[in-house]
Amino acid sequence: MAGNKMLQFVTVDRQTPEKREATDRKTDFGEIYREFAAERAAEQAGRCSQCGVPYCQTHCPLHNNIPDWLRLVAEGRLEEAYEVSQATNTFPEICGRICPQDRLCEGNCVIEQSGHGTVTIGAVEKYITDTAFENGWVPSIKPRRERTESVGIIGAGPGGLAAADVLRRAGVQVTVYDRYDRAGGLMTYGIPGFKLEKDVVMRRNDQLAEGGVTFVLNCEVGSDITFDEIREKHDAVIVATGVYKSRELDGANADARGVVRAIDYLTASNRKSFGDAVPEFDDGSLDAEGKRVVVIGGGDTAMDCVRTAIRQGATSVKCLYRRDRANMPGSQREVANAEEEGVEFVWLTAPAGFEAGLQEAMEGGPAVTGVNVQRMRLGEPDATGRQKPELIEGADYVEEADLVIKALGFEPEALPTLWSKPELEVTRWGTIKADFRTHETPLEGVYAVGDIVRGASLVVWAIRDGREAGEAILAKLAGADVPVIAAE
Ligand SMILES: Cc1cc2nc3c(=O)[nH]c(=O)nc-3n(C[C@H](O)[C@H](O)[C@H](O)COP(=O)(O)OP(=O)(O)OC[C@H]3O[C@@H](n4cnc5c(N)ncnc54)[C@H](O)[C@@H]3O)c2cc1C
Ligand code: SF4
Repeated sequence: MAGNKMLQFVTVDRQTPEKREATDRKTDFGEIYREFAAERAAEQAGRCSQCGVPYCQTHCPLHNNIPDWLRLVAEGRLEEAYEVSQATNTFPEICGRICPQDRLCEGNCVIEQSGHGTVTIGAVEKYITDTAFENGWVPSIKPRRERTESVGIIGAGPGGLAAADVLRRAGVQVTVYDRYDRAGGLMTYGIPGFKLEKDVVMRRNDQLAEGGVTFVLNCEVGSDITFDEIREKHDAVIVATGVYKSRELDGANADARGVVRAIDYLTASNRKSFGDAVPEFDDGSLDAEGKRVVVIGGGDTAMDCVRTAIRQGATSVKCLYRRDRANMPGSQREVANAEEEGVEFVWLTAPAGFEAGLQEAMEGGPAVTGVNVQRMRLGEPDATGRQKPELIEGADYVEEADLVIKALGFEPEALPTLWSKPELEVTRWGTIKADFRTHETPLEGVYAVGDIVRGASLVVWAIRDGREAGEAILAKLAGADVPVIAAE
């Protein structure tokens, strides 16, 4: 029985946690949503209609038991809600913050379809685990019994860390190798603090280290250590290296100073948030302060760049995208946030090259002064059903800019070449081939998870892969054929 605290959606309106005013939030890198108060979380959780077939759960990549933890929150049974929530999700407080809920759980909430506004699932999920940490309900992952088998994980992003968590809890000796100096992958150095504060990620890194996961940081596989050396050291290896090769732009002056890659720009900004010395930021190359900034792209990375530039004190920030608002890949929630903060979107525009000049006596060649912009219109749909942008002849103009950030997406690095391992099979897109349930590659004992298999995707999918690969390895160690998780 759901009890009388549920089904409140007819009388209680949907409310997200309070959002900070744009004038306030654009002055720092703190998260823009405040935490729910306990009564408000319970009230919002009580809006769930406790469907017999919960579509939210089906459309959550982790199949989180959403109706159950919503009910427990509505009843004030928070510690139990935490137990249920963490049973299927390694980092619920992170997914609660940054999953595109409108496309996943909340987008399939039945009460939304009846016109009452979806349950705020993500915000409640975040609230449950933040509260659990505050109250000391999150136990150590230290296993009761140690095992002798060891697993090496290459890449400390959400995919690698989720696998590390599953394996370490079962007593396996786990070593995570990463070329960066901090664990967390894109959660640490890609996604800005206004979406995901860094303390939240570091808290999880600390929990894993305290539980006995060994981190070997500043260690690039392929140069500091070979892939074969890692294989020799461990009984199984998981490749969780993500996708980092930026898509580039051609055209005149494409290599001018001031035309930069989104990943370099965001990494520098995130490093500054940690208080690191970042020479490329300190010399102004990757700092938007006082500049006219143009960001090219329409995905979530572009949204993160425009909003970072606002916070750094750019004089203007424009986002060029070759389709229109309705056809952009980035989340509408993030577009709205960016507009509130002062970003201007210039729809149906594409860069054809750059203007550059030697206006300042500086070393390093010409600096960008503008983007040659072509105007587009939407034509017939292509094979995927999306309308194709077409050029409007003779409508070009120059958009003045001092900093241009290319946010056109990412592709996999050529791992078989970089690691001298041609046997590591890749698809025609360069992603690693792996079994979709066990995540084992055709190389025995080598598994692959996250973006390096899926292409640029989401944290929640990387977590799912990592958990499944961890379970598959445990099943194999136990002599079973079928992974324990993979619940569909
Ligand atoms: C700017 C930006 C914003 C995003 N925003 C969101 C969002 O809001 N919500 C969301 O769900 N997803 C978001 N994503 C996507 C999400 O971050 C990724 O899908 C997710 O991090 C992939 O996890 P992963 O573990 O596969 O790889 P990653 O997080 O990329 O981690 C890979 C790790 O492998 C390491 N590595 C790579 N090569 C080597 C090597 N040779 N040797 C040693 N270490 C190596 C890297 O240093 C890195 O730490 C965003 C991505 C970007 C770029
Ligand atoms: S993990 Fe993501 S999709 Fe699943 S319930 Fe949480 S916010 Fe929704």
